[in-house]
Order: sequence, then C-alpha cells, then structure tokens
Amino acid sequence: MKKFGLLGKNINYTYSPILHNKIFEVYNIEGDYEIFNLENESQIYNFLKILKKEKTIGINVTIPYKTSILKYVDIISPEVLSIGAANCIKFENEKIIAYNTDYFGVLKTFEKMGLDLKNKKVIVLGSGGAAKATIKALLDSKAIVYLVSRNKIKAQKEFENIFFLSYEELVNSSGYLIINATPVGTFPDTDISPVSSEILQNFDFALDLIYNPEETQFLKYAKSKGKKVENGLYMLIAQGVKSEEIWNNLEFNYEKIYNDLIDIIHKK
Ligand code: NAP
Repeated sequence: MKKFGLLGKNINYTYSPILHNKIFEVYNIEGDYEIFNLENESQIYNFLKILKKEKTIGINVTIPYKTSILKYVDIISPEVLSIGAANCIKFENEKIIAYNTDYFGVLKTFEKMGLDLKNKKVIVLGSGGAAKATIKALLDSKAIVYLVSRNKIKAQKEFENIFFLSYEELVNSSGYLIINATPVGTFPDTDISPVSSEILQNFDFALDLIYNPEETQFLKYAKSKGKKVENGLYMLIAQGVKSEEIWNNLEFNYEKIYNDLIDIIHKK
C-alpha cells in the first residue's frame, strides 16, 4: 500500500481524502491518504523522519505549515522558490522535495476558463498565500498584474514585478480578469463580497478562489452583470491531481476526475 496524506492543524473538515481516494480508485493505485493534525511546528522534524522511515511517497501541506515546512526539506522547486510556500512534499531517494501545486491548480483553472492572459490587465484581491501562487501563475502567463491590498505599503515590500492599488483606487479601475484571493465571502459569512457589483461591471471575467459556497456573493454580483465566472473548486481538485502526478510519475485526465468529484461533492 502506497502511503500519502495531508499535514495541517484542525483539518478534519478537508475534502482531500475524498479527492485522493477517488484518484486511487479510477487509476488503480493501491494508496492510503491519511489526515495528520500537528499541534505546532516543533513537531514537524520528527514527523517527517517517521514518514520517511515508513516509506511514505508524499504528503500535502496546508495551513499553518505551508511556509514553515520549507525549513525541513532538502530540495525546493522553482515555483516554491518564487512563492515562498509549499503544499506538496515528495520523499524521493532519501531526499524531501517541496512543490507548490496551488500554482499548477491556478494555471489549470485559467486553461479551463479559456483565458488568453498575455498583456491583459488582471486584478488580484488579497496578498496571502493563495494570492502569491496566483500572481506567479499570472506573471508566467505574461499578464499585467495589479494587487489590491488593505495595506498597500506592506504589500509593496512583499511582491516584485507587479502594480499595487488600494480598495479606494480600485473604483476607477477596469480590466480583463478580477480574482478574489481573500477569504471574504467564505461559509458561514456568505452574504459579503470584497468588492461591489459596480466594480465587477468593469471586468470581463471573475474568478473566486473560494469553493465553499460554490457561488459566493462576489460571483453572484459578477454573474448579475453578465460576466463569465469560475469558483475555486477546479483549482482545489487540480492541485490534488497535480500532487498525484508528482508522487506517482503519471499523467491524469483532469476533466474526468473533476467531473467524477463534482458529483460526489454535490451529493455530500
Ligand atoms: P489568507 O492568507 O487568510 O488571506 C489572504 C489575504 O486576504 C490576506 O493576506 C489579506 O490581504 C486579505 N484579507 C484577509 N481578510 C480580509 C478581510 N476581512 N477583508 C479584506 N481582505 C482580507 O488566505 P489564503 O490562504 O491566501 O487564501 C485566500 C482564499 O483562497 C481563501 O478563501 C481560501 O479558502 C482560498 N484558497 C482556495 C484554494 C483552492 O484550491 N481553491 C487554495 C488556497 C486558498 P491584505 O491584508 O493584503 O488585504
């Protein structure tokens, strides 16, 4: 049995085991995907040692260990180097390698939305880990990126090669795509949006990285203005599929897994 899992803190709510078990079933992988809750960072070193001894193939990493895990790995992939956080670890030839499959999940989402980002103006709301992976994906797609933060000065110190706006300045802005990379609108506070419907009027596409609820207030506003919208479910599934590709050295059919999983998630 191949061993996999998810490391985090208070993560019993996660969809990840459903996702990975479905992949094991469809692709005949004899795999076991476990949830690992660690109370604090000081436990990570010994935890990784045990996993290595048990011949674990790989794990995903989530809040709050996406950055602190980097102290304990041997090799850092190029996207992790740029983003400063990892969500996928592979144990290979006695080495621990860190990847960021959120980045690949965002790229796959752009593909699904049929976007042509070259030289297009894109607004990203929020400056956390999800925004960092998204901005790396946008810059690699040759988009012109504007970050909107509640604290523009702080954000300016953390990012390179992009432009910055405050929420007040956003009122006069327009563009191709607007992305919500803040948690504003997540269950249970579902009746709020980080921006008004008037702002969404000024963009062709709207992407919300939130997947619970599937239609946030942000996406409702965008839809009411006739915009093309996408939620965070495809990204969530795609980052998991990419992790499996890295761990198993295989290529999967993203659309097939997405369609199978959407049915299961909707029945939950
Ligand atoms: P985070 O670090 O908690 O927050 C992201 C940023 O949002 C913060 O840095 C902050 O930026 C802004 N923000 C936070 N609270 C806000 C508020 N009340 N009003 C306005 N802005 C606020 O979260 P994250 O890990 O980056 O994740 C962001 C969202 O993406 C979450 O909803 C998460 O569920 C989602 N996500 C989805 C996927 C997926 O696979 N679909 C993957 C990762 C994350 P400023 O201080 O600069 O304003």
